[in-house]
Amino acid sequence: MSDDNVLYDSPTEFLHEVAEKSGHCVAQSVIPLEDGSYVCACSCERWEVVAPSRQEGLRLARAHTGSAP
Ligand SMILES: [Zn+2]
Repeated sequence: MSDDNVLYDSPTEFLHEVAEKSGHCVAQSVIPLEDGSYVCACSCERWEVVAPSRQEGLRLARAHTGSAP
């Protein structure tokens, strides 16, 4: 067991993780608009749609990430 290894590995792992998540579908947002519709966006920044309801927005988000039940 070596503390040096832990200190040495952590920053590398952290940077790797951030770089890996950038441009990936790790988080989706469904934001209400003033006209009653909802704009849905993803952390990958390559997906943005307007949905008629919050539920539909969440469904589209799940479909986008491929995690539909
Ligand atoms: Zn995405």
